[in-house]
Amino acid sequence: MISAGNPQEDHGSNSYNVVMVGDSSVGKTSYMRRAQSGKFSLDLPASLGLDSCMWTVLVDGKPVVLKLWDTAGQERFRSITRQIFHKAQAFILMYDITSTQSFSAVSYWASCIKEGAADNLTIFLVGNKSDHADRQVKTQEGETLAKEYNFEFKECSAATGENVIECLETMARILIQTVDMREEGMVLHKEISPQKKSSGCC
Ligand code: GDP
Ligand code: MG
Repeated sequence: MISAGNPQEDHGSNSYNVVMVGDSSVGKTSYMRRAQSGKFSLDLPASLGLDSCMWTVLVDGKPVVLKLWDTAGQERFRSITRQIFHKAQAFILMYDITSTQSFSAVSYWASCIKEGAADNLTIFLVGNKSDHADRQVKTQEGETLAKEYNFEFKECSAATGENVIECLETMARILIQTVDMREEGMVLHKEISPQKKSSGCC
């Protein structure tokens, strides 16, 4: 199940690229490491200058593979490689609950996603460092912003592991449901098409 590769590779219908974005130091790399220490593991120093790893979970008995992509420090210069963006089915947009600056930057990262990625994406707004005593961003503020953008939302802690796996499981479940819905749509479309022709329209 675990394999190296690049974003062009097809890992099967239940495999998804998930790109992590957000300001420097919010905890993206720590989050990925924390997820890795769980069920899967592989660090890939990829040619795009991005780090990636695979994470596999069973959703209703079906294996779902999330390939997590980390910007490997490029976000510091806000010049991250966007080649992966249009291959992404989902994003984790992370801020740090102890940094209002990182929370303000959410709109910047959301616009990057909008510019560079496809439509119909699953986007998770994640407030990291929930273990930290020095909170500057209220949970309610995160929730409200996520609602505004129509993003999913969770607070987590890469340090303690709180909600790290839960986030990925929720994401896997949403992704698999979205694809199921698309497939149903395609079947419906196929069934409708011949009728359209026989009506003589166009
Ligand atoms: P990145 O630049 O977004 O990849 O952030 P890093 O993963 O390198 O983390 C930046 C700093 O925040 C490091 O010192 C981490 O130890 C710390 N950090 C990351 N996640 C957490 C967390 O959940 N809680 C706390 N307290 N510190 C964290
Ligand atoms: Mg990093």
